Amino acid sequence: MAKHQVTLIPGDGTGPELAEATRKCVDATGVQIDWDVQECGIEVIEAVGKVPDSVLESIRKNKVALKSPITTPIGKGFRSVNVYLRQELNLFACVRPCKIFHGVRSNYQNSAVDLVLVRENTEDLYAGVEFQAGAEKTADLIRTINSLATGRKIGTGLDTTGVSIKPISVEGTRRIVDFAFRYAVSNQRKTVTSVCKANIMKFTDGLWYDESRAVALAYGAKFEQEDLAEGVKPDAELVGKAQDTQGKVVYNERLIDNMCMQLVQKPELYDVIVTENLYGDILSDLCAGLVGGLGVAPGANFGDDTAIFEAVHGSAPKYKGMNKVNPTALILSAKLMLDYLGEHDAATRLEAAVSSVIAEGKDVTYDMKPNRNDPTAVGTQEMAEAICRKIRGK
Ligand code: NAD
Repeated sequence: MAKHQVTLIPGDGTGPELAEATRKCVDATGVQIDWDVQECGIEVIEAVGKVPDSVLESIRKNKVALKSPITTPIGKGFRSVNVYLRQELNLFACVRPCKIFHGVRSNYQNSAVDLVLVRENTEDLYAGVEFQAGAEKTADLIRTINSLATGRKIGTGLDTTGVSIKPISVEGTRRIVDFAFRYAVSNQRKTVTSVCKANIMKFTDGLWYDESRAVALAYGAKFEQEDLAEGVKPDAELVGKAQDTQGKVVYNERLIDNMCMQLVQKPELYDVIVTENLYGDILSDLCAGLVGGLGVAPGANFGDDTAIFEAVHGSAPKYKGMNKVNPTALILSAKLMLDYLGEHDAATRLEAAVSSVIAEGKDVTYDMKPNRNDPTAVGTQEMAEAICRKIRGK
């Protein structure tokens, strides 16, 4: 048996081509992996009527999966398989590193962008607690809210107002901010920035900042603004468990609107950013845009003992079977996976090979050429093979 067992989900659309390209590159590093291939594309799900049980069983057994994108049909049957897997496996932390590689097409080419976005994956407006305008239960909810002595009322029509609920919990916030600090410590990162909109949403985002500060204190972080720590007690459950960073990690806060502007103006100043589900979704795409777009943006979802590694992008179905799309995002996701498996040397070699192929700019897909119609652009597999040659030193 090989050293590592990994579930490989080829997905659908351009997913299978990207999975094949990525597997080649991982295998070229020499790391011994038994790939447990699990079909879970839209065709399989439509035929079975759900995500096959074998997929979840395989991930639960192996605890690590590399996943290509899966299409979400709009307005039909099942909800997003991606969200379903994260919820079933309680993968509460979504991690998206954004690092600029020399040679990518980006307005930030000369800026040393190297940040990591840590997004809470289970709470917030994504919890799916929604009330449709016109439904009787929605009118009941609005009547109840208006009858409570909060001093606030929903003043619009009982049957013309939709409502979405935003739950943010103490335990969910602690868990993700703790994760962000652990990530910062184990990856020699210097700053953790907590992002929300606490000036407007006092009871959800206000709670988020309170818990962020308590976790930061438990890690012995240095507060950029010292007064933020006044009156805050370190998170009692983490004291004694969290590694004391002795002020070597700095904690700061940004409101989401300011964070967007800061990232556009001076992204090189940011390091680890931890935020709620919806803000994280939006910042992910913003950050992907800084470093060259979806074709190069990797990601991972972590639970307590299970992880799924996947690109930020979707299944790009219009390019299915054309050997055309960029494999970099999934290959860099596999680099994160190798690090997670403890194969740091292989991870470093894989990233260096990707970086070198991009910098040369020859064996790259159409989206990485200065002109998207450049006839010298290579296909998905050819770019992967160029990366394999670099790994093997040829
Ligand atoms: P998409 O990411 O598939 O495509 C957006 C744009 O980016 C398209 O122009 C596409 O051609 C381009 N693009 C995407 N990946 C690329 C790559 N590797 N190289 C070059 N160009 C690339 O987003 P979409 O069109 O909104 O979604 C398509 C399907 O994928 C939807 O059903 C969506 O729900 C699903 N989706 C799945 C995941 C996932 O599996 N984690 C994530 C996002 C979207």
